Amino acid sequence: MSELMYISTRDKSIQKTASQAILQGLSPDGGLFVPQALPRMDKSISELSKLSYQDLAYEVMKLFLTDFTEDELRGCISAAYGSGFDSSKIAPLHKAGSAYYLELFHGKTIAFKDMALSILPHLMTTSAKKNGLTDEIVILTATSGDTGKAALSGFAGVPGTRIIVFYPKDGVSDIQKLQMVTQEGDNTLVVGIDGNFDQAQTGVKMMFSDDSLKSDLKKSGFVFSSANSINIGRLVPQIVYYFWSYCQLLSGGKISDGDSINVTVPTGNFGNILAAFYAKQMGLPIAKLICASNENKVLYDFFTTGDYDKNREFTLTSSPSMDILISSNLERLIYFIAGEDDAANRGLMESLSTKGIYSITPSMKEKLVDFYGNFATEAETKEEIRRVFEDSGYIIDPHTAVASSVYEKYKKETGDETITVIASTASPYKFTRTVMQAIGRDDASKSDIELTDDLKIASGVSVPAAIEEIKSAPVRHTTLCSVDGMEQVVRDFLA
Ligand SMILES: *Cc1c(COP(=O)(O)O)cnc(C)c1O
Repeated sequence: MSELMYISTRDKSIQKTASQAILQGLSPDGGLFVPQALPRMDKSISELSKLSYQDLAYEVMKLFLTDFTEDELRGCISAAYGSGFDSSKIAPLHKAGSAYYLELFHGKTIAFKDMALSILPHLMTTSAKKNGLTDEIVILTATSGDTGKAALSGFAGVPGTRIIVFYPKDGVSDIQKLQMVTQEGDNTLVVGIDGNFDQAQTGVKMMFSDDSLKSDLKKSGFVFSSANSINIGRLVPQIVYYFWSYCQLLSGGKISDGDSINVTVPTGNFGNILAAFYAKQMGLPIAKLICASNENKVLYDFFTTGDYDKNREFTLTSSPSMDILISSNLERLIYFIAGEDDAANRGLMESLSTKGIYSITPSMKEKLVDFYGNFATEAETKEEIRRVFEDSGYIIDPHTAVASSVYEKYKKETGDETITVIASTASPYKFTRTVMQAIGRDDASKSDIELTDDLKIASGVSVPAAIEEIKSAPVRHTTLCSVDGMEQVVRDFLA
């Protein structure tokens, strides 16, 4: 098989192997790495349906990571998708009402980021070995909640790596915060910043492109890499579970081979839904890609008008992992619908960084026909949690509820009854307050953590280990800084 190369969305002349792209994260020109051509799935769905999650992951990922040997890739997969998950199916499908919820929260931190971040450290250390890299890999991450803990848990204790996580100190839930500040591992650092997620992300991006910082660290034997969803090592593992959900529907007799399904994805940085789009391009029969936003509805406006405009009020919602005004991974879709024109994409991204807005051409917009965008307000999100609970006894988290609510709007608008998979991105146990309020069983005298016992009674689902652990774990991280102080924090940690 010939090597699949990765090129920058802003400059096609930059070409890397998969392992190099994984190590670099972001391309030096600020672009994102994309495969030069998206591979087609080379096995039939009926063959794939007989496989375990791990074997299916191998069949999907080997098409992207062509410079990994079979042993290397299988080694990464088995290290990631094993005892860290509390379901042998890794990502089980749960039917409630007329929708299928693809539960992506059975990993160590009970949110969907585990799906990718449990394997990324292994892909990275394997990539480092392959490329003769001897520097220690420093992961810098900005998080709006779930990435942070999932990255920390993935990298903690992995030799040859360190990880520094920045989170908006008032922009994550109490449980998310507690999960992060109790993180163990001498190679971990967790920092709250006085700002929102986009500011944290911008600060991290600036450090990635700061040559003097990088050369100082290089002298001490450190090299930066990113665990954010822009890394292709995050994106590729996410394609797997769309194939998996289709295979589960097929082997469960819910669809016939070749039937199309729709997917609905609660979207923030656009990584998860982009993985679904890539699965579709590989040949998986997905009809509509339903992109769900919360009140930060930049993407809804983009899909309806063709204008991406981040100049707007930033709203804190009950689905904080979707409180995002710049959906970084959208750039990969823009590049694709621009006909893989790097110069055109670069122009649009320059416009985004200078003016905060860009407009796509009518012919680009035509290529978005398979996408449908909509959003759910805070009230609609809570109402959806209540509706699903009352209809079926199933309790969904606020992110999943945004998707579920948007799916209901889609059905009402279009009459399309195609079987639909809703990406369920977090356990309701991470957002007990919102969930209990929504189903009318909140108890204001209890803390978010104490509410887990009430949620257990309401849902009949046992409390995940991730929650039990933080109940007694000591706080290990108390560092706070301003947006401008982020670089100093990094220098101090690595000094
Ligand atoms: C990160 C996250 C999302 C958004 O996913 P993107 O890939 O950034 O679009 C949605 N829900 C939860 C719970 C998340 O953690």
